[in-house]
Parts: sequence; structure tokens; C-alpha cells
Amino acid sequence: MNEKKEYFHFIYFVNINMTIQTTDPELAQALENELHREREGLEMIPSENFVSPAVLEALGSVGTNKYSEGFPGKRYYGGNTCIDVIETLAQTRAKTLFGVSHANVQPYSGSPANQAVCFALLKPGEKLMGLNLTYGGHLTHGWKVNFSGTYYESVQYVTDPDGWLNYDTLAKQVLEERPKLLFVGATAYPRIFDWARLSEVARSVDAYLVADISHIAGLIVGGVHPSPVGYADVITTTTHKTLRGPRGAMILCNGEPSEPMKTPPERSRQYLPTMIDRAVFPGLQGGPHNHQTAAIAVALHEASQPAFKEYAVQVVQNAKTLATELSNRQFHLVTGGTDNHLLLIDLTNKNIGGADAEKALDRAGITVNKNTIPNDPRKPYDPSGIRLGTPPLTTRGMKEKEMILIAEWINEAIIHWSHREKLDDIRRKVKELTGQFPLYPELRYV
Ligand SMILES: *Cc1c(COP(=O)(O)O)cnc(C)c1O
Repeated sequence: MNEKKEYFHFIYFVNINMTIQTTDPELAQALENELHREREGLEMIPSENFVSPAVLEALGSVGTNKYSEGFPGKRYYGGNTCIDVIETLAQTRAKTLFGVSHANVQPYSGSPANQAVCFALLKPGEKLMGLNLTYGGHLTHGWKVNFSGTYYESVQYVTDPDGWLNYDTLAKQVLEERPKLLFVGATAYPRIFDWARLSEVARSVDAYLVADISHIAGLIVGGVHPSPVGYADVITTTTHKTLRGPRGAMILCNGEPSEPMKTPPERSRQYLPTMIDRAVFPGLQGGPHNHQTAAIAVALHEASQPAFKEYAVQVVQNAKTLATELSNRQFHLVTGGTDNHLLLIDLTNKNIGGADAEKALDRAGITVNKNTIPNDPRKPYDPSGIRLGTPPLTTRGMKEKEMILIAEWINEAIIHWSHREKLDDIRRKVKELTGQFPLYPELRYV
């Protein structure tokens, strides 16, 4: 076939079944390599997951072609009847699943969602409080170089040295600082949050309590972590972590039905839906990513099925098994264990830093990330710990039996971290194991 002619057609007509492989082999090969990396390794970064083929299909859909600034029924562009159906489905499913009256599904990702919440609730220079990044918080909760620590007066709280959040200490600091907004949520906290106590703490100074459930949204939906609904004023979450959707985010709250075309009469809890919607658009973003919204809708439908509850239960069981097995091999777990999907390991007794551990495990086919531990004596770029979690492996169908094998491989890799042959040996075993848990078996880019 004449390739030039085919290319000519592709430029002007989209009705030819062109693949990435035929139009862009270089990029196709890079995608194929990533597919193999995901397939053959043990993905243990707790903020990651594998979406279903249905979510992947929605994400690669024609929704990406459409502009739809505004909200369902109130758009600044024509031709949005179908997009309105898609976004309304995502909103309705989010509201039902979490039990709230309002859902904004447009934030491009978790960080923009938190930015929108700050924009909605605070004036520049007002005070917010969040968990320090090096104690498991997130950049957007007031870290100095982030927008949240620059445009607002940011005060950070920390955990106790053993890694547990101390609610009495926090209550005292909140009373002293009197923030307008209190962020609660974490990227490396292996324990359950006491939302009732946190809401008491926030109310003591009439601060907005913002629960950032990015890491644990899927566990909440699955019933294995308490929900902040009824306690937090606003809930933000990414959709791509334990919730197992596409990269994206949502903002959930209760209040008077949103009237995004009107300025609310006042900034108060009653008008949160309108304040949030207006902060996302036109405050911060332009056109929603409709392909992403469609994929979020699909993921929320999946999360409402009974099988998702079983998934969430297994995620926690796998993490607890891993915690027991690693503790038996003299690994020190921050807080002594886990209640959720992740483990934070203090490597100070293992004669290895977090960066070398990450590298050694990577060579062994086990993907984790280096992480600071509470009161870390080392620098954030080469901290004392590693963080690992079970959501992606559980999606592949792995259970306690596999966790026991993996704990031993992690142990061997850390002991023999400078022995390349030993690490390659583990990698072969990893590949053999992952081969028994197929990932996107039909998918190929080259
Ligand atoms: C992941 C995460 C975010 C940010 O999400 P991005 O999509 O990476 O911007 C915010 N807060 C918490 C607690 C997170 O875990």
C-alpha cells in the first residue's frame, strides 16, 4: 500500500483506521515498553493502580474533542447534549457513592482540586493548616514552595515521632493558630483518621475542615475506612488511586444546590456547592476534560459494584499480611503496622537509605518509592524510608500467598542490595509470578 497516500488521508479525514503504530512507531514503541514494564514488574507504589479496560476505553474516547466550559445545562459552547449526559452521570454516581448532595467532577487532578478549594474558601493571605509533607502530608496542604504555602499564610502540623497523629496536640495548635481552613489527608499515613474528632477540632475555631481522601477514597467506598461525610465541610479526592479511575479529581460537599452563574450571597457553608463550582470554573480552569469525565463515570460505576467491596477488603488484608511478614524479618514499620493500603518502612536499622533501597528494588522488578519518615534525620532526596502499598497488585488478583513471597523478595533485595546477580535473580522470579496474573492481555501498541 502507498503509505504517503494513507498519511494524506489521515490529515484530512479521521475515518481511516490508523493506529499509533502506523503513524508514530517511535511513540508506539515507548508505550509498548511501558505496557511491558507494568505487566512484568510488581507495582507497589500506593498511589497507583491499574484501570479497567472499560475505563481505558472511555479515556481514549471522542470526549476529548469537545469544548464544554460551564456545567451540565449551562454551557458556553453549543453541541453539548451528549457531554451533559456524561458529566451528569459522573456527578450522580459520585453523589450516590459517597452520600453527598454536590459533586464537582471537573478538576484536572488532585492538586488543582485543592487549589480550587483554597480559592473558594480563603482570601489571599488567610491562614490554612496542613500536615507537613515530610510527615506524610501533601504539597498542596501548605508546603512552602507550593501555591498553598505562598498565597496563603500556611502553618504546618506534624505527627508524633512514632508516626501517629496526636489529636490532642493538633487540637492545641489549632486553638493557638486559629486557621480558617484545616486540611486533613495524607500520602504516607498508614492509619485511620478519626473524622469526628477532627471535625470537633476544626469547629473549635470555626475553621473549614477539608478532608483530602485522595489515597483512601476506594477504601471508603469499599467500607474499610470511615467516611468523612457528615464531618468534613469539603472533601477532595483524586480518582486514580484506590478508587481505580483515570487520573483526575472530584470535590464533594453539601449545601444549597449550586447556582454557578450567580455570585453567592455570602461565603458560608450553606453556599459551598456554588462557591466550589465557581472556583473550579471560571475561577481556575477552562474546558473540562470530557474524556476524563467519561472515564471517571465508568470508574464510579465499577466502584459501586459488590466486587469493589471485596477488592477494598483484599487491599487491606494484603497490606496487613505484608506488614506482618516484613515485621517478622526485622523491618521497622512506622506506627508499627497498617490499617489501610500502605506501609511506611523505616530503614535505619538496615544499613541502607531510601534512595538505594528504591534503586535495588527497581532492579529486582519491585517498584516502590523512597519516602521521608517522621523526624527524618536524612534529606528528602535521600530519606530514611520507603513507602509501599497493595492497590495495584490486588487489582491483578494477588492475595496473601503472593504477599508472603513478595515480603521475602523485598527482604533479600534489601540484604543483597549491591549484588546485581542476586537482584536479577529476584527479577526473574518476579516476572514468573506476574506472568500468572495477566494485565491487559489483549493490549498491544506495536
Ligand atoms: C495524590 C494526592 C494529591 C494530588 O494529586 P495529583 O493528581 O498528583 O495532583 C493531593 N492530595 C493527596 C493527599 C494526595 O495523595
